[in-house]
Amino acid sequence: MLIDSHTHIYLPDFDEDFVDMIDRARKAGVEYYLLPNIDVESIASLHKCQDRLPDNAFPMMGLHPCSVKDDYQDQLEEIKRHLFQPVRKYWAVGEIGIDLYWDESTLDKQIDAFEQQIQWAKALNLPIVIHVRDAFDETFEVVDRLHDDRLRGVFHCFTGTKEQAQHIADYGTFKMGLGGVLTFKNGKIDQFIHEFDPSLFILETDAPYLAPVPHRGKRNEPSYAALVAEKLAACYNQPVEEIHKITTQNCIDLFHLNLPSLDTDSNDYPAHFDD
Ligand SMILES: [Zn+2]
Repeated sequence: MLIDSHTHIYLPDFDEDFVDMIDRARKAGVEYYLLPNIDVESIASLHKCQDRLPDNAFPMMGLHPCSVKDDYQDQLEEIKRHLFQPVRKYWAVGEIGIDLYWDESTLDKQIDAFEQQIQWAKALNLPIVIHVRDAFDETFEVVDRLHDDRLRGVFHCFTGTKEQAQHIADYGTFKMGLGGVLTFKNGKIDQFIHEFDPSLFILETDAPYLAPVPHRGKRNEPSYAALVAEKLAACYNQPVEEIHKITTQNCIDLFHLNLPSLDTDSNDYPAHFDD
């Protein structure tokens, strides 16, 4: 059983074949979904998606760094309201972080938004889901400063170097999300991942983005998490079942998901959540 720990299946990209897409995922062994929010505008469709999959989808709440614009304080206000006066449960603050690929001019605002949201996660004892693009130094600067034993989370879609992976491992409370990039020829992370303990990794797709080989360049979807698992199994030279078990347990532990026991192959268990 697999969990797609980072997937945007609530986006319009999946409107047309949502039911078939979920069916394909189930057949590939992907049963559960963690849904990262983007901004205030995406909240309604995020909630709607969870209502369609009430036992299998876990929403997060946060402001994505690419959505940090002039109105970011207003956006944060609204997102904070959802987190602190919840009508429904959120399993993480995410996705948050720093992205200097699309816009360097908002760096100060991005850092401010990132810090505020980290403080909320600490207050609520929730993990954070970090998006980093072309900004590892800036992101580490913030996390190094705010890290304590209460702060946990994941660097989603990890694409860094071995040194950056070591930096994350050294926190002791953070994991790395592995997705399609692991399967790319020029992705490079497949060269060193086996040197790290598998307890550090969780699987994700980041659908509809970053589809793994052989679907690279096309729309990504949760069933493809199985391809990432296969590649990770090859990196570790381990049976893929073992990788399924380890990464799923890592994900359950990080997000405090209360799922049925993993000691069975049955897919028919109802899910129970601790809220
Ligand atoms: Zn994302």
